[in-house]
Amino acid sequence: MTYDHLLSPLTIGDLTLRNRVVMGSMHTGLEDRRHDLPKLAAYFAERARGGTGLIITGGYAPNKRGWLKPFASELTTRLQAMRHREVTDAVHAEDGAIALQVLHAGRYGYTPFSVSASAKKSPITPFKPSALSTRGVDRTATDFAESVALAKKAGYDAVEIMGSEGYLINQFLASRTNDRTDRWGGTAEKRMRFPLEIVRRSRELVGDGFPIVYRISLLDLVEDGQTWDEVTTLALALQDAGVTVFNTGIGWHEARVPTIITQVPRGAWRSATARLKGVVDVPVCASNRINTPSLAEDILAAGEADLVSMARPLLADPEFVAKAAAGRADEINTCIACNQACLDHVFKNKKASCLLNPRACNETTLVLAPTRTRKTVAVVGGGPAGLAAAVSAAERGLAVTLFEKSAELGGQFRLAMQIPGKEDFAETLRYYRRRLEVLGVEVRLGVEASAADLASYDDVVVATGVAPRVPALDGIDHPKVVSYPDAINGTVPVGKKVAVIGAGGIGVDVSHFLTHDPSDTDYDWMAHWGVGDPTLHPGGLTEPKPRTPIREVTLLQRKTTPIGIGLGKTSGWAHRSVLKQSGVKLISGVTYDRVDDAGLHITVDGTPQVLHVDHVVICAGQESVRDLYDVLGEAGNAHLIGGADIAAELDAKRAIDQGTRLAAAL
Ligand code: NAP
Ligand code: SF4
Repeated sequence: MTYDHLLSPLTIGDLTLRNRVVMGSMHTGLEDRRHDLPKLAAYFAERARGGTGLIITGGYAPNKRGWLKPFASELTTRLQAMRHREVTDAVHAEDGAIALQVLHAGRYGYTPFSVSASAKKSPITPFKPSALSTRGVDRTATDFAESVALAKKAGYDAVEIMGSEGYLINQFLASRTNDRTDRWGGTAEKRMRFPLEIVRRSRELVGDGFPIVYRISLLDLVEDGQTWDEVTTLALALQDAGVTVFNTGIGWHEARVPTIITQVPRGAWRSATARLKGVVDVPVCASNRINTPSLAEDILAAGEADLVSMARPLLADPEFVAKAAAGRADEINTCIACNQACLDHVFKNKKASCLLNPRACNETTLVLAPTRTRKTVAVVGGGPAGLAAAVSAAERGLAVTLFEKSAELGGQFRLAMQIPGKEDFAETLRYYRRRLEVLGVEVRLGVEASAADLASYDDVVVATGVAPRVPALDGIDHPKVVSYPDAINGTVPVGKKVAVIGAGGIGVDVSHFLTHDPSDTDYDWMAHWGVGDPTLHPGGLTEPKPRTPIREVTLLQRKTTPIGIGLGKTSGWAHRSVLKQSGVKLISGVTYDRVDDAGLHITVDGTPQVLHVDHVVICAGQESVRDLYDVLGEAGNAHLIGGADIAAELDAKRAIDQGTRLAAAL
């Protein structure tokens, strides 16, 4: 496939972009400290070298009251602007273009000094903001404009004004958060004054040609969000005030509709952008859950947008554009929208990276340096850890052989990709298979490598993975008991009433899998989450359509904590919602007594009871498989990684990181 639309240039203001791919803004944690600027420069330079048309930085506050958290990134002085030259020069050296995003957190600021349109606390932050005074609003609009002007001085090619996701500008726009009665509130027209003043004042300071991108909230997905009339009136007024491009924003952070995680269908929000494109004359940019060049091309070819923004896909693969352009799209490491190493990190105050690409944000420290040694490396195990080690070692030039005892590569990912909404995980295996092929790795499927097979290699990487834990439970051999791989693979057809033992990530996934009807051709993700036509429903929010679970599932754990609290910071709430929507019964604080013909016997709060179920699916974690490593011994040339190393809290993020780092050091 060629990507004629995606790869065609576009002129916005005085700037000509080499293609239509925008790397959307995403905070990485490298923005906040001066000493991280070289790392930030390397991170962006790598994406520019990979052909990205326009890069947008994470958000920089226009003043201290706009900080996302204490001492967060801001652009308020000439000195700061001059330091940013390191970033802009690095991108320009790679023929790239870069915009700085100006973001005022408003009531999402994780500080006791946060401000908003009105003194209304958000449901996702602990601090109640103060309402800005009338003069304070005026001053803040000027601060925005001054940051925009400083960005230009710093060598940025454009700016993006963050007017979506529920940050301060949104807080002014929606009656939900703006109770003001002065000139900045009271009517929809007055609520729009704040962003209009920001854009007018910015335009005045930077002159005509400097591109101002405005990220506009097309669907707020919260109650009392903006009506579609208000959105289009705002867009037209902003266009008149000097906006050069509109980027798409979907959903406030406090919205209870997922907008970017794996279970959101690809391209779910393209129609919202298309609606805006029908209203304004300036270019519009589509965004959210677009992760392949073919989908991006399709959106552009359909005339629904002029540009496509992808943030996480460019974390996962900095060469996204270059590979698409070279006809190597099948070598793209496709973002699986898991959020586990990017947004989950940022929300936990850790530096972002990518589960699939641990080099993201570590470009200066995790280097896969080419080697001429031609050392031979055997990798045993074709799960995420082994695949990452094999591909990374081969990229360095090492001669790699990969042994996998089953007939297919993928390990636990082969199970994950069968969970509804996790179909994208199959892309990861496509990526690895193709890279192994391109790099000439010898792949030996169906071979259980013995110590003798491995004796001739310089290094042996043992990534033999995990086996499901079998709990010591009376009746564990009863025919009602099923392992989670057997339940997911359909090896054992599971009955209509099911108990799931263990409520970790896999227990939650299996419960979703068992309640979901794969034959439901009317399944409408948007309807189930209550996303409606924005012209009929303010904020695009309507009554969710109930799901019809095909099984009665009870999910159990021994801990007394609420089920699912250990799941990902930015996705766990959505997984818990799905369980609720699917009628999954949750029981914590369980003691498992036995399984027999009657079902699963448990005790809760000292009261014995029987769950009369057809099957009991065991999702009680995993144990390392390391028989081979025990034979090879710790000494010498054997290296243990992934689940075989640590099965507790086994996850692909650690496995891939460990595999890549080991390969860098071989
Ligand atoms: P897990 O998170 O360790 O959960 C297994 C659960 O089984 C434990 O929470 C434990 O809960 C229970 N358990 C442990 N030993 C048991 C025993 N002997 N008898 C009965 N119950 C026992 O493991 P997992 O669910 O297999 O997930 C593995 C990893 O995959 C996770 O850490 C995660 O990184 C990843 N994953 C994440 C997601 C997601 O975030 N959506 C989805 C899938 C997988 P109690 O002790 O309270 O009973
Ligand atoms: Fe995408 Fe997951 Fe990587 Fe984030 S961590 S960029 S969501 S693959």
